[in-house]
Amino acid sequence: MQSQPTGPNPFCEIGRTHPRDRHRMKPVEGESGVWECPRHDLFARVVEPGVAGELERGDPFVMHDGRAGVVVRAGDERGGGVLLYYRPDES
Ligand SMILES: [Zn+2]
Repeated sequence: MQSQPTGPNPFCEIGRTHPRDRHRMKPVEGESGVWECPRHDLFARVVEPGVAGELERGDPFVMHDGRAGVVVRAGDERGGGVLLYYRPDES
């Protein structure tokens, strides 16, 4: 397991709003500061606070692998940045 300077795995966004279903995401292999929840097809990564501040739910967001995604929401601060939850754009 590679060292992750960004701390423990973040909670899945779905779990945040369903206290009975709190679970953590897992690191995306080969990426630093990117996590995924395969159950919910959800991703999170650390972005600069200024970037997170300009993004709103539903905004387009290029994913870590270059695919088109959409913003779900900004999360906790982490390592000088902000966690941003996003998912693949299925529309
Ligand atoms: Zn999940």
